[in-house]
Amino acid sequence: MRPSYLGRILLRWCDACHVPVLAERCSCGAATREVPVTPPGDARPAFPSDIAMINAIYNDHFGSPLVPEGHICLLNKVPDKDRMEEIIIGGGIAGSIRYIPEERRYEPIPRPEAGALLKPSRRFVVVDDGAVRTIRENAASVLAPGLVAIEDTVNAGDEVLILSRDGTCIGAGRAKVSAETARSMDRGQVVRTRRNIPSRIVTGTATWETAVNANRDVLIRAEAASMEFVRNVSEQNALQATISYSGGKDSLATLLVVKKAIGKLPLIFADTGMEFPETYENVRAVSERFGLEVAATDRPEKFWERFNELGPPAMNARWCCSACKLEPVLALIRSRWGECLSFIGQRKYESQRRAQSRRVWRNPNVPAQLCAAPIHNWTALHVWLYIMREHAPYNALYERGLDRIGCFMCPASDMAMIHRIESGYPLLWDRWAHHLNHWQEKQNLPADWACTGRWRVREGFQNEEDSDC
Ligand SMILES: [Zn+2]
Repeated sequence: MRPSYLGRILLRWCDACHVPVLAERCSCGAATREVPVTPPGDARPAFPSDIAMINAIYNDHFGSPLVPEGHICLLNKVPDKDRMEEIIIGGGIAGSIRYIPEERRYEPIPRPEAGALLKPSRRFVVVDDGAVRTIRENAASVLAPGLVAIEDTVNAGDEVLILSRDGTCIGAGRAKVSAETARSMDRGQVVRTRRNIPSRIVTGTATWETAVNANRDVLIRAEAASMEFVRNVSEQNALQATISYSGGKDSLATLLVVKKAIGKLPLIFADTGMEFPETYENVRAVSERFGLEVAATDRPEKFWERFNELGPPAMNARWCCSACKLEPVLALIRSRWGECLSFIGQRKYESQRRAQSRRVWRNPNVPAQLCAAPIHNWTALHVWLYIMREHAPYNALYERGLDRIGCFMCPASDMAMIHRIESGYPLLWDRWAHHLNHWQEKQNLPADWACTGRWRVREGFQNEEDSDC
């Protein structure tokens, strides 16, 4: 099924302030223009470490970094076999990065618009004036007769930029042959040009502080609507109110809104025992900063018991959520309050399922918990701008290239993230890999089952336990 937008995409750009704006008009008064992101389109800020990684990938391949100094950059995850992210600079899509798990590396996939930002010294071709128009307008292939020059290191399968004789970038695509072969050809295809929706890049430096100011009215409106929702739900339900806090950005924004609307509440933290050290640290920092009590669940005892019985949890066999979150949360609520109302950081832009879910609900597995989602209608960018405005202490994992906070061994992770966790948290991962290998041996599974991530999907298994992890 083709991916679709999960709500109206609000991402726009102010060319006067050089920042994203989630409204048709910037706080500076200028009209904004649409950014043509690929669905679902829940773009987020690129942190300095993300920008360093993007620049290393482009520099490695093209001999030039992509993101200019001092520019705001966003990342937009798009559907792919593993992980692919669009890179938004100056209000346009400059290109993407795509992870190749087998090679443990990202490849850059530039758009022609990247030519406004980088001057390639590697992996480019130059075409004759006569070929420029059809390449630019119709994404025609680069053919041998129209080729003026091809840089030495180009290999078949490489991403290349297509330049005109004056050095203007007119297209991007994949080389069909190596530089050596191309030079010996009289006819045939040298580069297969890619067709993309064009977008406009207007460069200019800006800070995230400017972005927060540019979205001043947007944030005031979003906050007011969410606070009203919180007041209404708590007035209509005479239950102990709580905030479900995971250590992630969405639950942090929820906490801020709820606290402002109805005051201090206890935080429910489902301690799965599989959290990153940064997450424990964030829960501590947040509770201290806002003076909120943390009601943490007991660490699940059943996890290893079930692992030994069922093998590791998989995307289509997520027994982990009920064992590590739902059951302990239910036990906690029953013992503390009997029943409670919990404000949760769910957003419709996160997934198709969440887009269709209601804003107030009960999970049949946790009947003692009435759930409500104050920031249901917020995009990731609303959340980040709001957290920045409030100077709230967010989880340090976001600055280390992880965009989803949860159990470190979540089977829903892509290989790009798993490889990052493997190298960044070797002790944590080794322990997990040890258990995977043990199960692989015990079940006579193929030798690459554990290390290639095949454990994340249970073969021949139907039951998709839809969970809230
Ligand atoms: Zn502006």
